[in-house]
Amino acid sequence: MTNEHYDLLVIGGGSVGIAAARRAASHGARCAVVESGRLGGTCVNRGCVPKKVMWYAADIAGYLHDAPDYGFEVETRGFDWPALVQRREAYIARLNGIYGRLLDDSRVDLIKGHAHFAGPHQVDVEGRAYTADRVIIATGGRPTRPEIPGADFGIDSDGFFELVKQPKRVAVVGAGYIAVELAGVMNALGSEVSLLLRRQHFLGRFDACIRESLASMMQEDGVDILSSVQLTSVEKGPDGRLILHGDRGQVLEGVDTLVWAIGRDLNSDDLGLINTGVETRADGRIEVGEWNETNVPGIYAVGDVSGQAALTPVAIMVGRRLADHLYGRDPVPPVDLSLVPTVIFSHPPVGSIGLSEDEARALHGDAVKVYQSRFTPLYHALTRHKHVTTMKLVTLGAEERVVGCHIVGLGADEMLQGFAVAIGMGATKTDFDRTIAIHPTSSEELVTLR
Ligand SMILES: Cc1cc2nc3c(=O)[nH]c(=O)nc-3n(C[C@H](O)[C@H](O)[C@H](O)COP(=O)(O)OP(=O)(O)OC[C@H]3O[C@@H](n4cnc5c(N)ncnc54)[C@H](O)[C@@H]3O)c2cc1C
Repeated sequence: MTNEHYDLLVIGGGSVGIAAARRAASHGARCAVVESGRLGGTCVNRGCVPKKVMWYAADIAGYLHDAPDYGFEVETRGFDWPALVQRREAYIARLNGIYGRLLDDSRVDLIKGHAHFAGPHQVDVEGRAYTADRVIIATGGRPTRPEIPGADFGIDSDGFFELVKQPKRVAVVGAGYIAVELAGVMNALGSEVSLLLRRQHFLGRFDACIRESLASMMQEDGVDILSSVQLTSVEKGPDGRLILHGDRGQVLEGVDTLVWAIGRDLNSDDLGLINTGVETRADGRIEVGEWNETNVPGIYAVGDVSGQAALTPVAIMVGRRLADHLYGRDPVPPVDLSLVPTVIFSHPPVGSIGLSEDEARALHGDAVKVYQSRFTPLYHALTRHKHVTTMKLVTLGAEERVVGCHIVGLGADEMLQGFAVAIGMGATKTDFDRTIAIHPTSSEELVTLR
């Protein structure tokens, strides 16, 4: 075995791995990234990027549907799913190449293969040994499958991005944002979609105004939302289509594609952590303390595998900041993760930051005051098919500091980022009120709430 030594070895060439290694190299550290799959990780290959491309396609379907209401005579001759998938994958292949060149340009070595710890500072990859002063574990996660008979007849979010033809009759199982997004995309593109929830509602951690408004719009748009269904088995019927069985005798027949979107397992189980002494929790999350250091000095875990908010910008910012802290000249503070804005690419989209009304009331009781608005955006004034917009500001104390902002409606995805800056700076309701509105927009409602 040869033995190559680095200042920093990063396991995983996803959002964290590439960002952290390039930043550390910019400070002069000798770095390598180990990646067993395609560069860019989940976000680029099986997450944000392909998902957003599909969301754009679904959005276009919506605009085509509304076009006659704006006077267009449109004849749509169909939708070519394979052509879209082929273009999407070609774009992703270009991104994979760009990431490779970025690593090269930053003088970060790329080691291809599966990394396995042989000791706290030694990692073996495809029969070669690499040592490093410091190791960052940035191995992300993978979709969870339930352990019920017939589960393997279904696919997961990775499998969704491998579909080469459009499913006709789909069942999506799950209540998180991935389930909601995939159900929305396929419904808008013309598949017949059932969304199966284990409990009563989806998006449990989001403000009730978002959950309720989005659920009713999805139902009006044709998604069949089935609550309180715990699947117990899946079988293949004589026609080759799937039959799903629930714990209370429910049966769903004629399903040609079943998508599991029930959560993610973390990639900490196949790393040889036993050879390092690094501790993990029962759910696979690697336990980290200050600066994302594990219980073993010099070994860090960042990104999804550390259990932090599973979002690309969070992963990137924490990874870069850790590299600055370890190798930069100037001291830097840890990333403040108390206010993380997030978007759900549903139809219409959701934007949310800070405390929900329920969370705020549980924490602060009567000191909470809420402002809410529900309206039909001007775009829908002329369309027969309508989506309403709902907005809520959650404020705290006599000065009415804005501690939560929740939007569901057309443009919410692009609206939230600027408001997140203001809220992060401690904006109050008065600051919102004294901001001149931009008319006619939906976002003006947020600065004119009464
Ligand atoms: C369907 C879907 C949609 C999403 N949409 C969004 C979105 O819209 N916005 C958003 O912000 N986030 C989104 N996310 C979440 C986002 O993709 C993740 O939070 C982000 O990719 C986490 O980055 P990471 O670096 O921690 O892990 P990853 O990006 O998962 O990278 C981990 C890498 O490590 C590699 N690896 C694992 N084990 C080993 C090993 N032993 N040796 C070598 N390499 C290894 C893997 O191959 C992978 O490339 C989405 C996720 C999914 C699944």
